[in-house]
Amino acid sequence: MSFRFAVGGISHETNTYCKEPTPITDFKILRGDQILDTFKGVRFYIGGMIDAARDLGATLVPVYFAQATPSGTIALEAYNAMVNELLAGIKAVLPLDGVALALHGAGVVESIPDLEGHLCKAVRELVGPKAKIVVTLDLHGNITQAMADQIDMCLGVHYYPHTDGYERGVEAVNVLAQLLAGKLHPVIHVERIPAILTAATTNLYPANAVNELCWEVEKRPGVLDCTFFHGFARSDIPNTGAQIIAHSARRP
Ligand SMILES: [Zn+2]
Repeated sequence: MSFRFAVGGISHETNTYCKEPTPITDFKILRGDQILDTFKGVRFYIGGMIDAARDLGATLVPVYFAQATPSGTIALEAYNAMVNELLAGIKAVLPLDGVALALHGAGVVESIPDLEGHLCKAVRELVGPKAKIVVTLDLHGNITQAMADQIDMCLGVHYYPHTDGYERGVEAVNVLAQLLAGKLHPVIHVERIPAILTAATTNLYPANAVNELCWEVEKRPGVLDCTFFHGFARSDIPNTGAQIIAHSARRP
């Protein structure tokens, strides 16, 4: 049986200390096959998703992807336009077995402090409880449990500089297939750490030590994934801060 996955997302690292809001004209928007044409063979999250889907024999349906360079809080009307187009695009290609979303994790919209939580809730409501949703994230995210509660799994890059976005994209599509095959039953827990790391490269302490600790934890029975997120400091919102996100196997 060949699975059918939609791919898309809205990706922004929002600096809420910038005075000017970010308008939609600052976003590079890709629709449909433009997504495949742009990222095929590229070492980016979606490049990995494309290659993994090809290797699995799964159909990847490219929908809508918007990304801007880091800047101020996203204007509400810009976000509404983007999320509405993403949702309409997904709705147009239902039914789906799953959705792979390439997000950042530090998106803030005027009156919506948790872009990713808002977006994942909207996608979940659209696709229903049976479709699987897997999200890739930047480790500079201020990730919330509210977001995690809407999805099946989230995969953050392990390194800064971010050299493993492609690998997380490959993993995202493979995880979708494993979820649908009933091989994975994750429970996601977001543990906030009373710290924020700014520009902490992962070849140096403390980020390298926390990564090593996470990989030790991943060897424990029942632990599916354990990833360190540094948080994004230039964001004056309640969920600013570092986190550990752990996925463990649900007890039968
Ligand atoms: Zn980053």
